[in-house]
Amino acid sequence: MAAAGDSAAPKEAVFSSSEDRIRAVQARNVVVGRPIASERAWQGLTPLFRRSAESLFSVLFPSDCRICGLPLLNVSRLPVCPDCLDEISPVEGRVCSICGERVLSSYALADDDGWVRCPVCRRIERPFERAVAYGSYEDGLRELVHLLKFNGVRPAARVLGRMLAGALAGLEPEFGKETVLVIPVPLFKGKRRQRGFNQAEVIARAALKIHDGNRRLQLASGLLLRTRDTHSQIGLTSHQRRENLRGAFKVARAAEVNGREVVLVDDVYTTGTTAMECSRVLRRAGASKVWVATAARTMKQAGFGVATFQGIEVGAGAA
Ligand SMILES: [Zn+2]
Ligand SMILES: [Zn+2]
Repeated sequence: MAAAGDSAAPKEAVFSSSEDRIRAVQARNVVVGRPIASERAWQGLTPLFRRSAESLFSVLFPSDCRICGLPLLNVSRLPVCPDCLDEISPVEGRVCSICGERVLSSYALADDDGWVRCPVCRRIERPFERAVAYGSYEDGLRELVHLLKFNGVRPAARVLGRMLAGALAGLEPEFGKETVLVIPVPLFKGKRRQRGFNQAEVIARAALKIHDGNRRLQLASGLLLRTRDTHSQIGLTSHQRRENLRGAFKVARAAEVNGREVVLVDDVYTTGTTAMECSRVLRRAGASKVWVATAARTMKQAGFGVATFQGIEVGAGAA
């Protein structure tokens, strides 16, 4: 069934959104253990059938760990070994108190208010209070996100949800007395249909099961909508990325957001453009405060300037 040339190109073609394309490119270097005839054939199946097939497969056939490639000793619905899961750890080192970006040592000193600010957050006002993430978007954590989004391995959402719950717990002291709305970053409806689920929503659901003992957090999935599909963000300047997303989101029922505190949740915080655009839209609809929480965040690597990875370009400010 597998035709020549099925290996790389179609795999990239099915990932239509920007950030997905970046991940698709990254994913090529990874051994994917599912021995299906071709990615195209797989993607052609209905989401329901795909999910059933995926879970049936992983239940019936012990497989290799999708991260390290070693055989799994136990049959599990999540094809990742315990060692690889254990290795996924929270962000280490100092991060910006506002946007969560790793900060260079020269910026790691706290301001008078006790907060650490990266060069970007020193210059611009963010439309959100803070953005927090559990871990750095690399290695095992990145693979877990790929398993959920691109391979439809739903049990990965439970693990990612646990991580999101950790990020939410960090915000808890800042919440007011009222119930806080938890709003997943929406997918465009065609995209959601293609994938069969919105990963931000399933991760949020899993997180709330763990986190919300006192019912302070209330999932509100249908309040924020993505009204059109957006193009790839790859290769765009920060200005072009903002233009690309402008008008792509709207609040369905502003009265339900007005005066409320909101946590916007997503699987990954990449450039921050999406988080900022959604936060702006929520604030315009009357949200009193917006925080952002994600399971993972793209972190600045040594040798790169902060501007490369954030939604706003800055001058040569980074030391
Ligand atoms: Zn492993
Ligand atoms: Zn920052």
